Amino acid sequence: MLGLMQDQPLLISSLIEFAERHNGDGEIVSRRVEGDIHRSDWRTIASRARQVANALDNEQLLFSDRIATLAWNGYRHLELYYGVSGSGRVLHTINPRLHPDQIAWIANHAEDQILCFDLSFLPLVQAVHAKCPTVRKWIALCDADKLPADSGIPNLVSYETWMGKLSDRYDWPRFDENSASSMCYTSGTTGNPKAALYSHRSTLLHAYAAALPDVMDLSARDSVLPVVPMFHVNAWGIPYSAALTGCKLVFPGPALDGKSVYDLIESEHVTFAAGVPTVWQMLLGHMQSQDLKFSTLNRTVIGGSACPPAMIDAFQQKYKVDVLHAWGMTEMSPLGTLCTLKNKHLALPPAQQTALRLKQGRAIFGVDMKIVDGDGHELPWNGQASGDLLVKGPWVVAEYFKGEGGDPLVPDAQGRGWFPTGDVATIDADGFLQITDRSKDVIKSGGEWISSIDIENIAVAHPAVAMAACIGVAHPKWDERPIVIVVKKPGAEVTRDELLAFYGNKTVAKWQVPDDVVFVEAIPLGATGKILKTRLREQLRDYKLPEC
Ligand code: AMP
Repeated sequence: MLGLMQDQPLLISSLIEFAERHNGDGEIVSRRVEGDIHRSDWRTIASRARQVANALDNEQLLFSDRIATLAWNGYRHLELYYGVSGSGRVLHTINPRLHPDQIAWIANHAEDQILCFDLSFLPLVQAVHAKCPTVRKWIALCDADKLPADSGIPNLVSYETWMGKLSDRYDWPRFDENSASSMCYTSGTTGNPKAALYSHRSTLLHAYAAALPDVMDLSARDSVLPVVPMFHVNAWGIPYSAALTGCKLVFPGPALDGKSVYDLIESEHVTFAAGVPTVWQMLLGHMQSQDLKFSTLNRTVIGGSACPPAMIDAFQQKYKVDVLHAWGMTEMSPLGTLCTLKNKHLALPPAQQTALRLKQGRAIFGVDMKIVDGDGHELPWNGQASGDLLVKGPWVVAEYFKGEGGDPLVPDAQGRGWFPTGDVATIDADGFLQITDRSKDVIKSGGEWISSIDIENIAVAHPAVAMAACIGVAHPKWDERPIVIVVKKPGAEVTRDELLAFYGNKTVAKWQVPDDVVFVEAIPLGATGKILKTRLREQLRDYKLPEC
């Protein structure tokens, strides 16, 4: 017997319809690329999202066609979030911090039809447009009078010219809730970047979960600042949860320095902010140097990389801001765990609470997790046993876009598929996860990935290099920085500086270039000839980066 409830697909358009109808005057404030502050509200965003949908229909775009963005957090990006997905197309948010060749590769793989960009990325678009044959229109997110003349980009139009005069009447289409809604590429595993392809259903379930009290605890009483970019896993889902709760949204645009973020928090009475540790380090540095305090901020979610203890202490003790340490991945939409304390922990002394807050936290309903040993046997939740972390749930990927990398899931005895995260963790008896290591071969610097394989491939392309291995080492500001360990060919010579300069004209962004080169006689190899990175890390345990 089936239940007798209404059959309504979970669609992203229902979020913006709800926000318009029930929280129409809820504010959306954006710092623009131009530097000024722009004010909008959910009613206006909804109306302009419908204009975007009409503009996309005018382009004869098909259901599931990909529309890309290279954009900061701002109101026009939010309109695209709803206009693109709501009308049945797929929003592809591209990370502008990648090398132009990586961006072109991703745009081609996704077969993007239109690419919308903030004017700060004009040089990037000028560098890639000729390499992106599927993109038939380039849209600058600006007013008509700001459109650059003689840009050299064919089919370039301003966003306001493209959608501004169209009708805001549009009936959001109804379709299968499992249809694709947005996508994000990640280089979190080996090989070429792979895309997580989110669905309307996964996005809505994630939006509900993110708003829960033991997750982000979002409500219409909040003023929310997502510093985490909208090109990083949909700003952790905040643009969707914000429409669901009707909270005020404050977008920082391109200004992520400590002073700009602090000023916005104060002027817009921000109560909740989300970002990676590197950004909060800049904010705390500014506040300490100017002896400032927060007047309204009461909690912050920090994730993407491990949150250092000193940061938790500064927020909790000095600024009276609750730190919610979070863990997740692009493949998980991204939220997996959040560190909110249970009732029994509230009476613990501050030092013990900090120790708990350093953990990545408890699973959110919807995400199941387990740790396993090398043979796949589940390990106990005792806070000691450390194993490979696997997850499953309705907002976790089943496979990557275009089936890249084959079937990523690991079946259990019941045949249920678990996604291997590439993280190594413990789980304690209260269900608190703690990430202790990473088995995947990548480096995360300032919240952004660096592929060790790319770094190694470039090093071995140098005529004097016989073998190279790239590992991450701890860095106080960036969390990790890459270094490359090199064995020279017999009789060949290359210096550290020559090798680092060799990266200059290759397809890695400047910030992805290693910080140092360590020359060694031999690199440890396993039985199959694979570099033993764990052994290498062990050998370089006492290594210090030149600038630290
Ligand atoms: P991404 O797909 O870019 O969101 O990166 C996900 C990966 O970042 C995870 O698999 C972890 O390796 C790492 N990560 C995310 N959050 C944390 C955290 N709070 N602590 C430690 N590592 C984290």
